[in-house]
Amino acid sequence: MNIVIFGPPGAGKGTQSNLIVKKFKLYQLSTGELLRQEIKDKTNLGDQISSTMSTGNLVSDQIVGDLIEKYISNKIYKNRLIFDGYPRNLAQAKNLENLLEKYDQKIDIVSVNLETIKKRILERKILEKRSDDNEEIAIKRFETYENNIKPVIDFYKQSKLLKVVNGEATISEISDEISGLIESIKG
Ligand code: AMP
Repeated sequence: MNIVIFGPPGAGKGTQSNLIVKKFKLYQLSTGELLRQEIKDKTNLGDQISSTMSTGNLVSDQIVGDLIEKYISNKIYKNRLIFDGYPRNLAQAKNLENLLEKYDQKIDIVSVNLETIKKRILERKILEKRSDDNEEIAIKRFETYENNIKPVIDFYKQSKLLKVVNGEATISEISDEISGLIESIKG
C-alpha cells in the first residue's frame, strides 16, 4: 500500500498522514521534512537548497527525486509509503510512477481535499493581516502550490487513483475517510 496525500502548506496533511501511519504501520515520507533536516544538519545539499526554500519556491526536481529514491529503493519501506509533499508538479508525478515501477511498486490511493484548498487559502487571506516576510513567503508557498498542482491532479484523475475527500470535514473525519479507503483496498 503506497499512498499520496495532497494538500496545500498548512492544511494538515502532515497531521493526517501521521494518524494513518500509526494505524496502518506505514512510513511517512515528507519531502519538506527531509529537506529541512538537510539544512539543519548543514550538509552540502542543505547549503544548496536553503535559499530556494526560504523563498517558498520548489527545490529542483532532481534533488527531491534523488532523495525519495533512497526510500523507494529501501526494502524496509516497500509498499509502506505515504508521500507527503511529493509530487508537487507533473514532472514529479511522472518520476514517481517511473521510480515505483523500477522497484516493483505502485500507488494505491491518491487523496486530495479540493474544498479545503480553496477554503484555507481564503481563511489565510482574511486572517493574515500582518505584513511581514513570513506572510509573504506563506502566500508564495500557496501560489507555488496552486500553480503547479492542477496538472498533477488531472494526471491522477486519468489513472482513476484519485479520491477526493470531504472538504468540509475535520482532520479526524478526513483521516477516518482515508482509513476507510485503505480498508476497502486492503479488502
Ligand atoms: P512542505 O513542508 O511540504 O510545505 O515543504 C516546504 C518546502 O520544501 C517547500 O516550500 C519547497 O521549497 C520544498 N519542497 C518540499 N517538497 C518538495 C517537492 N516535492 N519538490 C520541490 N520542493 C519541495
